[in-house]
Amino acid sequence: MTVYNFNAGPAILPAAVLEQAQNELRDYKGTGISILETSHRSKEYEAINSSAEQRFKQLLGLGDGYRVLFMQGGASSQFAFVPLNFLGPNAVADYILTGTWSVKAHAEAAKIGSATIAASTKADNFNRIPRGDEVTLSPDAAYVHITTNNTIFGTQWHTTPAVGDRPLVADMSSDILSRPLPADKYALIYAGAQKNLGPAGLTVVLIREDWMAQANPELPTMFKYATYAANNSLYNTPPAYAVYMLDLVLQWIEGQGGLEGMAKHNERKAGIIYSTIDESQGFYRGHALPDSRSLMNITFRLPTPELEQQFVADAKQQGMIGLKGHRSVGGIRASVYNAMPIAGAEALASFMRDWAAQHG
Ligand SMILES: *Cc1c(COP(=O)(O)O)cnc(C)c1O
Repeated sequence: MTVYNFNAGPAILPAAVLEQAQNELRDYKGTGISILETSHRSKEYEAINSSAEQRFKQLLGLGDGYRVLFMQGGASSQFAFVPLNFLGPNAVADYILTGTWSVKAHAEAAKIGSATIAASTKADNFNRIPRGDEVTLSPDAAYVHITTNNTIFGTQWHTTPAVGDRPLVADMSSDILSRPLPADKYALIYAGAQKNLGPAGLTVVLIREDWMAQANPELPTMFKYATYAANNSLYNTPPAYAVYMLDLVLQWIEGQGGLEGMAKHNERKAGIIYSTIDESQGFYRGHALPDSRSLMNITFRLPTPELEQQFVADAKQQGMIGLKGHRSVGGIRASVYNAMPIAGAEALASFMRDWAAQHG
């Protein structure tokens, strides 16, 4: 039986990437040893490290002026890294709250300095992204923080918010490299790798160099972005195997037509599942409002929690795993990241139609 992995993270990886990693596991390019056993100071690893940085920037259409950093600690550590580096004593940072992760990011910043809520859709149980006229920015905000895709609630920004000259910071953990994006409008983008980029243990940070130069210089070495940039992320031992896997995933994305190709693929997949929800005559109820729907995490409810439990169990019998919604929202969540094939979305949609006919 084919297994389709709808886990939210760690999540599905492209089959071709796993095969290549398997083929190279015991003997990396004729060295006779595994990349798992290779020094991060070797020429083999340094080539991977610099290839991953270059490919990442190229996919986003960026050149000089930006750096890509390979860090650890997950997106959750970035919630503190950003204010530690950029939220000085007399400054204020603006946070737009669109779900659990942005609430956590804001709470960390508030421990370090002054962090305001520029907008929040909590009153609507985070079922949408705020409209431009709902956002109130501080005149001299140190930065504005958004979460581009809300993994738990299943909503996604479909535009880049207008923030004037204020530096824009985004947590893109669950939709990084899923679509084209005006990357040069961002001062800093961060993402835990385990959703769209590779295995857990790696956190990727894209940072504009002129902004990095303004960071707090007094921090401990490992808490400064500048340390990672000045040493090509090799100040200490990086998560080398995860960076190797990232480089393979980036090559796979290039082979799919880059970010344009990914966006077409992702729109088609999400469309297959959302149309099944919309055509179910109310049996499946989407959580997100249509204009805020995520192309990565599709959240919906069934008429009762008992039916939801049964749905998840029956889907698993058919090889579709990881469909249980996050404990804070309930219901069903289908995560359809870059690596999910069209066939996976079709299999789920067909299962949903049959299941609704039997239980509706
Ligand atoms: C998963 C996720 C996180 C948490 O990531 P960790 O790497 O586990 O710290 C943060 N933000 C978003 C948007 C996520 O999807």
